[in-house]
Amino acid sequence: MKYLSTRGDQSRRQFSDILLEGLAPDGGLYLPEQYPRIDAAALARLRVTWNELGYAELAFQLLSLYIDDVPSEDLKALCQAAYRADVFSDPRIAPVRELESGLHVLGLSNGPTLAFKDMAMQLLGHLFEYELERKNDFLNVLGATSGDTGSAAEYAMRGKSRIQVFMTSPHGRMSPFQQAQMFTLMDPNIHNLSVEGVFDDCQDIVKAVSSDLEFKRAHRIGTVNSINWARMLAQVVYYFAGYFQVTRQDAQYIDVSVPSGNFGNVCAGHVARMMGLPIRRLIVATNENDVLDEFFKTGVYQVREAARTRETSSPSMDISKASNFERFIFDLLDRDAQSTRQLFGPELSRTGRFDLSRHPNFSHVQQRYGFFSGRSTHANRLETIRMAHEKWKDLIDPHTADGLKVALDHLEQGVPMLVLETALPVKFAKTIQEALDFSPPLSASLSDMMNLPRRFQVLPADVDLIKQFIVKHPLHVQVTKV
Ligand SMILES: *Cc1c(COP(=O)(O)O)cnc(C)c1O
Repeated sequence: MKYLSTRGDQSRRQFSDILLEGLAPDGGLYLPEQYPRIDAAALARLRVTWNELGYAELAFQLLSLYIDDVPSEDLKALCQAAYRADVFSDPRIAPVRELESGLHVLGLSNGPTLAFKDMAMQLLGHLFEYELERKNDFLNVLGATSGDTGSAAEYAMRGKSRIQVFMTSPHGRMSPFQQAQMFTLMDPNIHNLSVEGVFDDCQDIVKAVSSDLEFKRAHRIGTVNSINWARMLAQVVYYFAGYFQVTRQDAQYIDVSVPSGNFGNVCAGHVARMMGLPIRRLIVATNENDVLDEFFKTGVYQVREAARTRETSSPSMDISKASNFERFIFDLLDRDAQSTRQLFGPELSRTGRFDLSRHPNFSHVQQRYGFFSGRSTHANRLETIRMAHEKWKDLIDPHTADGLKVALDHLEQGVPMLVLETALPVKFAKTIQEALDFSPPLSASLSDMMNLPRRFQVLPADVDLIKQFIVKHPLHVQVTKV
């Protein structure tokens, strides 16, 4: 399996070449040359794998279709190390629960940081460590987080010998739970940089450091943002696991509703569907930041300026542009790299929009690709959290509530609906309190965590100071010592 760029770069690369990378050299995103097809017989075999051997083995078999430059037994061991019942507090790893007949929730938030990002990040930690070992190299992951991504990255990379994490976050702006989760980590390879500024300042710092190519190379700076192909690939697996739990036989179609921000999660659903998994509709659920809903309804993709990006009660979906969207548009345009480059290149940065409403392929969005969409507001969120609690005795988080709200708008008799649960309610206690008048119960270990000592560095929003901090914490010293 070789990988290409959505913007037409002529080179073809192996999985291991792109594993540690973000964007392709031409600014595009990586995709496989073609999606491996799962026919009816192969789907039936995968169902048996799921039933008899579970998530890690299912992951191994699906990943093997995309990764041919890691020996099989190594890939299998990596999947087994990542997807363990004790890490995800459930032997099924991604368990489905039924709210009522035909309406299901796929639990993707049982990993160490209680959000779905663990599903991919845990595997990434093991893959990175393996690859760095093979290359005898090391990596300084530099990131910016408003909460979920940073903690998932830190819990996946903690204690890994060839990796350090420098995670910037806006000082005093994460939820108390998110702060506790990140700042109580004492692993020497994890550095929390609490930046005096907002999330955009953190992101600007990461961009500035990454575009200093000399510094980047000298200090082995890398990222783990959601455009990384391995992250997307890992997410494909749970669409299969969810499908097998909701259906009894392989001719059955299901609908899936996905709380969406950067279009990473639902793009993995698109990949699963392209492989032949019987998904009828892929429903993109947004919050008030509805760039994606607008596109799927009108064909116009209109990026918002940072100032027009609203702070909502489902904060992990507060995005102004969807960084993985280019992958789907590339497929929608029959993989025409030149058109994709025109749409996403300088044009988009200049005008902030493109319009496919008159493009003949826009009608394929629903018919061929199964994409539908909807939007949910703060009031919808509260109402849906209440409804789930009263009607089904189920506690859901605000992001999952957006997914459930839009799912209910699309529910059809006879087609099972699967809503992806992207976080647990304890992470967003304030909104649960507002909806239900009580806080989600904290387990003993989580309430202990809230009181543990913390380790973080407060720094001004200054690129040079962040660089200095990285320079003062060289990783190769630690590597040669061990
Ligand atoms: C990251 C995140 C999302 C959005 O996922 P995308 O892949 O960016 O679309 C939704 N909900 C939660 C809780 C998240 O952490």
